[in-house]
Amino acid sequence: MTEGRLHYLLISQSQKLMNSSPDVLIMGGGAIGLATAIELASHGAQVTLLSRNFQEAALHAAAGMLAPQAEGLAPGSMLDLCLQSRALYPDWTAQLTAFTGLETGYWPCGILAPCYGNSVPTETRVEEREWCDRTTLLQHQPDLSPEVVGGWWFPQDAQVNPQQLAQVLWQAAQQLGITLAEGVCVNALECRDNQIQQVQTNVGTWQAQTYVLATGAWSQQLLPIPVTPRKGQLLSVQTTAQPLRQILFGSDVYIVPRQAGRIVVGATSEDVGFAAYNTPDGIHALLTAAMRLYPPLADFPLEDCWWGFRPATPDEEPILGQSPYKNLILATGHYRNGILLAPITARLLTALILSGQADPCLADFSWQRFTPQFPITPHPSQVVLSSMITRF
Ligand SMILES: Cc1cc2nc3c(=O)[nH]c(=O)nc-3n(C[C@H](O)[C@H](O)[C@H](O)COP(=O)(O)OP(=O)(O)OC[C@H]3O[C@@H](n4cnc5c(N)ncnc54)[C@H](O)[C@@H]3O)c2cc1C
Repeated sequence: MTEGRLHYLLISQSQKLMNSSPDVLIMGGGAIGLATAIELASHGAQVTLLSRNFQEAALHAAAGMLAPQAEGLAPGSMLDLCLQSRALYPDWTAQLTAFTGLETGYWPCGILAPCYGNSVPTETRVEEREWCDRTTLLQHQPDLSPEVVGGWWFPQDAQVNPQQLAQVLWQAAQQLGITLAEGVCVNALECRDNQIQQVQTNVGTWQAQTYVLATGAWSQQLLPIPVTPRKGQLLSVQTTAQPLRQILFGSDVYIVPRQAGRIVVGATSEDVGFAAYNTPDGIHALLTAAMRLYPPLADFPLEDCWWGFRPATPDEEPILGQSPYKNLILATGHYRNGILLAPITARLLTALILSGQADPCLADFSWQRFTPQFPITPHPSQVVLSSMITRF
């Protein structure tokens, strides 16, 4: 996506908006919906995005780590997907910034994962990570806990500022002429002959050739797929001079420095449905673990606390690609890695939608891996109503 091409597309998209129904209708305007909308529009598609509430997206709550290595993903298709997406990040964010004039906070700062206890690994250099003894670790990051014996250094892992990314994605989508319908809630998908005919919303019905389900943790309200909310609480402190040089990734907490002196501490992982508030227990657990790992944190001014809902699947991997409905594409269930996976998801699904070519890697992320526990095979003529979902 070059700047010149985007300017050309901005003009051509505005003209296309005069046409009636869009090529693609995206449900959900979080990280995945917006990134996919932008990629589609920059390839010439006419895109409409329906967003119930931009502010409730997990995108705003996330820590923004781009951490396939520190997350300890096992070798396999999920790790490969995450590594591919991390590799896209420098260019993806640079292009978004060039187009919008806004910063994303992309920062290839690396991640340090300090360890407590006596165990020192026998292999000290494994692919992209390197073991540091305590002395070396303190050169990376002074003032770590006296209990830390050493740790892994992941130089390739990085971060983006999700709050800044949210503004950049929204701005880019606007500049591209994507119809952004904020406050529009999809209540039901109307299906006939294995196809979505239209979607019912709080402001009437919408039609398109292709539909993308990108409604994050709320996906099961529209389709009986196994995506459930996993709540995460976070907090932040604010410093005048940033003392942290990289992300600290502990076993039960992570500490993420932002370039302007903010420090984000996260995150709990709670199976409590959509309980929309912070709890004393959650914040206490985060502070205890963070102050143990990095004691100076105890004296910094507390700034804020918030929460969000990760879209979790039973195997903690996303659901991507074709659905049982011919013109419905699934882009949900990104769980802990939706910020990381936004660019690769957008790229793979754009190719699928516009050229009909499914990248072979999509097979590993098909909804079909969850059948027969979650059968969503459509009837020949069916209206899927949100009120019917309880049976799943
Ligand atoms: C505490 C926390 C920390 C995280 N940290 C990281 C991290 O460090 N790195 C990382 O890569 N990922 C992280 N994540 C995960 C990441 O935030 C998510 O995987 C990602 O945001 C999911 O994107 P999404 O677009 O699928 O969903 P969301 O960003 O949640 O967006 C979904 C949108 O769909 C809309 N919607 C829902 N239902 C409807 C409907 N019926 N009609 C219309 N619109 C609807 C919602 O209003 C919402 O705006 C974190 C998440 C949390 C909660």
